[in-house]
Amino acid sequence: MGAGLEPDAGYEDLVRERREAILSRLEEACARSGRTTSEVLVEAVSKTVGPEAVVAAMRAGYEAFGENRPQELVRKLDALSAAGIEAPRFDMIGNLQTNKINQVLGRAHLIHSISSSHLAEAVSKRAERGGLRVPVLLECNVSGEASKSGFSPDEARAAAEGLAALPGITLEGIMTMAPAHDADAARRTFSGLRELANDLRRRTGLGLPTLSCGMSDDFTIAVEEGATLVRLGRIAFSSDYAL
Ligand SMILES: *Cc1c(COP(=O)(O)O)cnc(C)c1O
Repeated sequence: MGAGLEPDAGYEDLVRERREAILSRLEEACARSGRTTSEVLVEAVSKTVGPEAVVAAMRAGYEAFGENRPQELVRKLDALSAAGIEAPRFDMIGNLQTNKINQVLGRAHLIHSISSSHLAEAVSKRAERGGLRVPVLLECNVSGEASKSGFSPDEARAAAEGLAALPGITLEGIMTMAPAHDADAARRTFSGLRELANDLRRRTGLGLPTLSCGMSDDFTIAVEEGATLVRLGRIAFSSDYAL
């Protein structure tokens, strides 16, 4: 196993040590908020590293990975299977253009980045054509920053029922990104996401179990505010990221 994709031993140790540090912070955040670690999936964002690093992360215990570009998601899956490694779960977490939808259909386990009704409809249509029903999250711009894409909370509330009825997608929850370098704003963003999910549950009657929020700099805050999936890139993979 792993022929051609053997990670450097020192790097494998780094990824393992990082995972231990991440899990102990996760445990502390869960203890502070009366939650259990089994409620939170730690997804490794592998967008800046190669397939060898994914192998190192799999050995360290990660079971789910996130990629932000369709070509890269497909490249990683293909590299792993060419090396005889059973590919783990890969999620699509980045901006998805409609002309790239077919690349990730049937290959991404979950699409986190459904940022508009237009995109939801396009994914649904292509999935139906392929006889699929694709699990998705709505990307919501809770912080209201102009630089961020996604549904505003009002747009999400207005669109939810219609999106829930689309035949080619299954709404599994919602996703957001918090403002950088501002812990208070991050907390407000994550608690806002949790409240928005409650509104959307009432409107759609769906369970919407997944709250995808929290990255390297803010995942412990996200967990305290109810995240069920955190997306960790630099802290999991980069020795340049200070713990
Ligand atoms: C890159 C990325 C992450 C991970 O960010 P880090 O700060 O490196 O942990 C999470 N979510 C999305 C959508 C990303 O593009």
